[in-house]
Amino acid sequence: MKRNGYGRIQGRAGVALRKARLAKQPLCEDCLAQGRYTEAKTPDHIVPLAQGGTDTDDNIRCLCKPCHDKRTAEQFGYKVRLTYGSDGWPVA
Ligand SMILES: [Zn+2]
Repeated sequence: MKRNGYGRIQGRAGVALRKARLAKQPLCEDCLAQGRYTEAKTPDHIVPLAQGGTDTDDNIRCLCKPCHDKRTAEQFGYKVRLTYGSDGWPVA
């Protein structure tokens, strides 16, 4: 099996794995948690491979595109984080 630097399985085996995971979890997990039924589009690594996560089913949740984008942003810290001072106001 071919893997890239992070251990993600690539090529045909990766596509088959992705399909199998989506077939197993056809609904977006985050939407489901909020009572919405949305078709999952992307198997997402709960712990990103880049952060030491494994490419096994127990580290996978299937998400729709907007939820996946949101999770990815959270995981990689693209969101602006504010630090608050003792007076409760954000510190620049
Ligand atoms: Zn969703």
